[in-house]
Amino acid sequence: MAHEYNPYENMLSTLEKAANMLGLAPAEYEALKYPERELKVSIPVRMDDGSVRVFEGYRVQHSSSRGPCKGGIRFHQDVNIDEVKALAAWMSLKCAVVNIPYGGAKGAVKVDPRTVSHAELERITRRYTAQILPLIGPERDVPAPDVGSNAEMMGWIMDTYSVFQGHTVPGVVTGKPIEVGGSLGRGEATGRGVLFTARELFARLGKKLSDARVAVQGMGNVGGTTARLMAREGCKVVALADVSGGVICEDGLNVEEIYQHCYVNRNFLETYNAPGVRHCTGNDVLTADVDLLVPAALENQLTEDNAADVKAPLIVEGANGPTTVEADEIFTKMGKYVVPDILANAGGVVVSYFEWVQNIQSLMWDEEQVNSMLEKIMRRAFAEVWDKAHEHNANLRLGANMVALARLVSAKKIRGIFP
Ligand code: NAD
Repeated sequence: MAHEYNPYENMLSTLEKAANMLGLAPAEYEALKYPERELKVSIPVRMDDGSVRVFEGYRVQHSSSRGPCKGGIRFHQDVNIDEVKALAAWMSLKCAVVNIPYGGAKGAVKVDPRTVSHAELERITRRYTAQILPLIGPERDVPAPDVGSNAEMMGWIMDTYSVFQGHTVPGVVTGKPIEVGGSLGRGEATGRGVLFTARELFARLGKKLSDARVAVQGMGNVGGTTARLMAREGCKVVALADVSGGVICEDGLNVEEIYQHCYVNRNFLETYNAPGVRHCTGNDVLTADVDLLVPAALENQLTEDNAADVKAPLIVEGANGPTTVEADEIFTKMGKYVVPDILANAGGVVVSYFEWVQNIQSLMWDEEQVNSMLEKIMRRAFAEVWDKAHEHNANLRLGANMVALARLVSAKKIRGIFP
């Protein structure tokens, strides 16, 4: 990519616009432009061959005004501090949009998890946990999975933290396996939240989601689940992409089979073949002729280079930050509706919140209860964002940022600035 996009600047630019629309004085939101804490750690790990490698890791806490910090841990070879800072700030905004009592944080380890053995991955995860130990805890900062991390790794984090405390502390991390305090419904929660927001958007526009042709970028937790749930909804999922490229089938892809191939069996899409399925580039998937596009892989996928070619009139952001500021402006001019990340993919953190509530009270809820409470929260949040955007004649991204910012600023005002 020719242009280097800085997601933190992206976040700041939207925040500034939302603050202006709300008529906030700079002093009211100045503190939100900076993370409260940034920790960089070195993670020495003995590799299987006896050598020692030192990995780099981060934990950034953006805001704790509304409650304990909350945010996933990304395992990716290209992470940098600006990306983690942006992701942490988006978590503060996300928790505020859906109105759950959390602040925002994010963590990362600079490693491609596919290039290390399972035992090495466990040692990296456990040592990273030990390095960020002073920051985390059920009342301080609660990690969760993100790109490149999964439930098993959250179990290692819970165990490592608990060993240091001398007793089991399930509420230190969410997205854990069910057997050690994970919540039913958490695994599919982000994708299910994407489905609920897409349903709300279609309903507001007088359309039926079940009639839609859909393209999804990303075949991981979010993209894979979204594609499956959309297919079960009756949508025709015609285009899918992962890091290896894309597949297209005008008559609709066999999503369950692809999910099994990619997510369960950990293969890339490039090795998936079926009658009527055509291989293409990832960009062909983003620009496919569909009613709904769900970018659910990484940030900066929809840019000024490809935005004008995007045919989908409706975009629901499964990933964090998939659309650059420039692309967003192009979409607004084209009259597209974009449901922003901080609303669309908030289902994950909502059910993480349910998991944490169950952990600290030793409760166990059934999946139906979790899904129905998630739906209630997502529908309420969508309505608030939709109304706020229309009240200010703004797009949904600004609507969501205004809802979130108003809540964050109000909490800050009530608490005051120490000393
Ligand atoms: P994941 O690691 O499970 O999956 C990532 C997917 O993206 C993989 O299929 C990978 O092949 C694909 N991918 C990576 N680079 C790509 C590229 N350049 N082009 C096309 N595809 C590419 O990650 P995930 O948990 O599904 O997270 C995806 C996005 O959703 C991230 O932005 C993450 O921050 C966000 N998110 C995740 C959760 C969650 O609960 N897991 C919650 C909210 C937001």
